[in-house]
Amino acid sequence: MQTDFDLIIIGAGCAGLSLGMQLASLHAQAPRTLLLESRTAYENDRTWCFWGDEQTPFATLARHSWQRFSVNNAVSRALVDCSTTPYRLLTAADFYTKALEAIASHTALDLKTGISLTAEPSLTQGRWHLHTTGGSFSANAIVDTRPLPTQQLSDTTLWQSFLGCELEFQKPRFDPTLAQLMDFYPATDAFVGFNYVLPLSTTRALIEFTVFSSKIYDQAELVSYLDAQVEKFAGGRPYQRLRNEYGLIPMGVGKPKGTVKPTERHSSYVRVGLTAGAARPATGYAFQRIQRWALACKQSLKKNGLPVGHQPDSFVIRQMDAIFLNVLRHHPELGPELFMRLFSKVSNEKLIRFLSDQGRVSDYLAVILSLPPWLFMKSAYQVATTR
Ligand SMILES: Cc1cc2nc3c(=O)[nH]c(=O)nc-3n(C[C@H](O)[C@H](O)[C@H](O)COP(=O)(O)OP(=O)(O)OC[C@H]3O[C@@H](n4cnc5c(N)ncnc54)[C@H](O)[C@@H]3O)c2cc1C
Repeated sequence: MQTDFDLIIIGAGCAGLSLGMQLASLHAQAPRTLLLESRTAYENDRTWCFWGDEQTPFATLARHSWQRFSVNNAVSRALVDCSTTPYRLLTAADFYTKALEAIASHTALDLKTGISLTAEPSLTQGRWHLHTTGGSFSANAIVDTRPLPTQQLSDTTLWQSFLGCELEFQKPRFDPTLAQLMDFYPATDAFVGFNYVLPLSTTRALIEFTVFSSKIYDQAELVSYLDAQVEKFAGGRPYQRLRNEYGLIPMGVGKPKGTVKPTERHSSYVRVGLTAGAARPATGYAFQRIQRWALACKQSLKKNGLPVGHQPDSFVIRQMDAIFLNVLRHHPELGPELFMRLFSKVSNEKLIRFLSDQGRVSDYLAVILSLPPWLFMKSAYQVATTR
């Protein structure tokens, strides 16, 4: 068994597999890479959605796309045309199949599943050593995609917690051309809550109840909200529940708590993924940011053998995201109204660029200016004085 590698990737989920696929595309120049994954099997455990044209990574593998979406509360509705960059849904099953095939077809890449680390990686004489349940390995560099425990992320501005299920009705129930991005739950000072409905056909849809809150909501706390939304939708019509998914995404991660091991500061060790800068703070979307990182990381490995982490957002964008999230954290009861203002006041083009992480400063300004001025000023002051 080979034990010495150029690179070890810890965790082969979205980020680890995305980098694995990029490295496979280097053919003979691919570094000898070991991917260590704790799960024993890949299941269709999530869906990834993103806005993008045909050139966007994985756009053509998407199962479904929508050219328009709606955002509504009890009294009003905004319809957004996104036909130039449709909203696309990629299933985890399709992504994993494609990634696993690419990795398996390359002799320099070795994926081992069902493996856990028995100790943290250590650096001796310029090489990383890893002890695992599947043996000991060494490498020149490490890409660590393991999510940090939530206790270390107590400075996170907001948590996005969601519970969803895929439903199949016997009779047509949905309009598969229209995605419902946010259907707001009545305003409350506990969270900003909304129902997210992605119709996959006239009879099938993914329905998710989502909350943005300073507190984490676990699955059990979201069950009754989701069930109420499902019943509202079903209205007594028969349906079958096919699959459930739960997610927790940090929005605006602060400095992780706990001491960073000196070895982690080494340039040959990077932390990436959902809790290390992959998630866009203002929205929680991470999939396309991970694809951009995987490409950049491949290029860096090819150039100098060193991996890179996620590119930090610019100062201006970070400030604007922080102001927006700070408003939602301190005034969740205003969330539904603020989002309705945002979706009805900001032009479609600017909105889509903002949501899909392609925003220019002017797009962010338009988003911030859609907030009531007093709220914006107060939040900007709070953000400036707490950093
Ligand atoms: C249900 C759900 C839906 C989402 N939907 C979207 C979406 O629509 N659009 C979007 O942009 N983003 C979405 N996200 C956010 C983000 O894109 C995903 O969380 C994405 O999977 C993050 O990739 P990752 O590699 O950081 O984490 P993961 O994909 O979770 O991969 C981490 C991997 O590390 C492994 N691992 C953990 N600990 C160890 C260990 N000790 N040793 C070895 N392996 C380990 C895990 O088993 C896992 O395979 C969603 C997230 C969730 C949870």
